[in-house]
Amino acid sequence: MFIYLDIVPEFSCACCGSCCRNEWLVTVDEAGYGRNREFFARTGRAGEFAAAFRPLTGRRGAGEYAAIAKGPGGGCWFLRDDNLCLLHREAGHEHLDGVCRLFPRYPMRTARGVEVTLSFSCPEVLRLVEERTAPLAVVRAAEAPTQIGEEGFTAEVFPRQQPLYGVLGYYFELEQHFIDIMQCRGLPVAGRLVLLAATAAELGGLPPSLAIGREIDGVIRGNYARLDAAEAGGAKWDGPADVLAEHFFVNMIFKKVFYLHGLAGAARLLRALGRRIAAADVGGEAGRRERVKAAVMAAEFEYCHNREALLRLARAE
Ligand code: SF4
Ligand code: SF4
Repeated sequence: MFIYLDIVPEFSCACCGSCCRNEWLVTVDEAGYGRNREFFARTGRAGEFAAAFRPLTGRRGAGEYAAIAKGPGGGCWFLRDDNLCLLHREAGHEHLDGVCRLFPRYPMRTARGVEVTLSFSCPEVLRLVEERTAPLAVVRAAEAPTQIGEEGFTAEVFPRQQPLYGVLGYYFELEQHFIDIMQCRGLPVAGRLVLLAATAAELGGLPPSLAIGREIDGVIRGNYARLDAAEAGGAKWDGPADVLAEHFFVNMIFKKVFYLHGLAGAARLLRALGRRIAAADVGGEAGRRERVKAAVMAAEFEYCHNREALLRLARAE
């Protein structure tokens, strides 16, 4: 089973080269390092291999064996002037390492199957969502929405591995509820984040027990009554910048932040990101959307590439 946000099949890379020009380190695993060493030796360019692939020393993340050096312009060594990838052209798509093959796709392995969304740090993904007023929808299908291999999953989510009778054992029911809160346009975006945080706190305070399922249902039912009342009062969102913020937070929830960082940790994280986005959401309508867009991209970039520091900051705020 494949579960994905409905923007995933709509995405097509515009070859802007922005992801290959970012300041993050593009890393390869040990197998990728060996594959490239062999490829460059075969094509008589062992010297270029040694210059382009630098084994990492010191603290390394899982699957990080070497990094691809930067070229003279600061982009990836293999990024050509026309924004295409030399390695891709010469060796093919399958030769690339996981991050280069997948970005901006964000595949996760979960108890429901393979789940996929997109990273909002890609300008083409933002172009897809910034004009869209309809809420993002979760799709379930037997077919994969995009090419995904059997490796490179960014998260593993198996709620049955959670402590017995704990709240996160019901994670998937909670995820849908959190998305529903975030898409309640009867509340302003800031109000939805407040309700999310209050719900996370209430759920987090439930002691493990045989009755936990019933207790969770009670919290969720109470919230739906609130959401219905808010919707009945009319829309409180204010233009494209608000919708973009909504899509960003829905995407974060779908990325399983509440499972990965715990209810309280994720609520803190989303509130901290909400404050940054709100700080950018000022001034006239014309500049507003651009500023919110830049804040969303920066937030996503930080979540993907500097997560520990971001979580520390959110804890301290
Ligand atoms: S940033 Fe997005 S659109 Fe641009 S090259 Fe990378 S994947 Fe393609
Ligand atoms: S190897 Fe190719 S796809 Fe990967 S970052 Fe470099 S230029 Fe981009």
